[in-house]
Amino acid sequence: MTKSVNINIVLLGPPGAGKGTQAELLNREYGLVHISTGDLLRESVKEGSETGRKIAEYMENGDLVPDEIVTKSLIERMQKPDAREGVMLDGYPRNKAQAESLEQALSASGKKVDLVLYFKTSEEVAVDRLSGRRVCPGCKKNYHVTNMPPKNDMICDKCGVELIQRKDDNPETVKKRFNVYQDRTKDLVEHYSDKNILCEMDGDLSAEELFDRISDLFKDKGLVDDASTG
Ligand code: AMP
Repeated sequence: MTKSVNINIVLLGPPGAGKGTQAELLNREYGLVHISTGDLLRESVKEGSETGRKIAEYMENGDLVPDEIVTKSLIERMQKPDAREGVMLDGYPRNKAQAESLEQALSASGKKVDLVLYFKTSEEVAVDRLSGRRVCPGCKKNYHVTNMPPKNDMICDKCGVELIQRKDDNPETVKKRFNVYQDRTKDLVEHYSDKNILCEMDGDLSAEELFDRISDLFKDKGLVDDASTG
């Protein structure tokens, strides 16, 4: 990595918009730290505590986990040293109250949300992506059975372990998650648009095309520090 982008970015868009895939590409190219509240919650579920069991119920039903649980987990993660130079938030905020909690947490250390990338995605594309999604349980890398298969049959290219399908990636739960997201997100699009930090992207594009568009946007906005020329 020779380039870096040091700002706080929110990746907004329904499940299946490709936020995780873009986050992985942006991390590799620009060193942006990727924080996914879905991943944080799945880690809590794995720990098997009472809270973890409650979280699992919400997630498996495609419902949102209560704000106080998610926000606490996010804030703890954002206090780790690697998050100081800026982060890319994936899956948070999901409603206005969370957006306000995020703004408070950032402003306490003199920061703010600098940019919101809104991946506008059709339901058809999102459902297809999620139904075919397979995930590495080790490194969390996402694959797709047809669009982005691993080199060897359902084995992670990096870790060599067998890929899994998330419990909430079945077609019925996927549709519910998509609708829950659309319902809550309308407010957020308006909220960030009013602040003039919202950039709408076409979430139906392929991962490569979308990544190129985001890279162009970073350049146009003068956000990229190129260490190789510096
Ligand atoms: P994701 O990995 O972003 O698709 O999230 C998977 C599930 O985790 C969601 O369907 C919710 O149940 C839960 N979740 C993730 N982020 C949040 C959030 N910010 N607020 C509430 N629930 C969340």
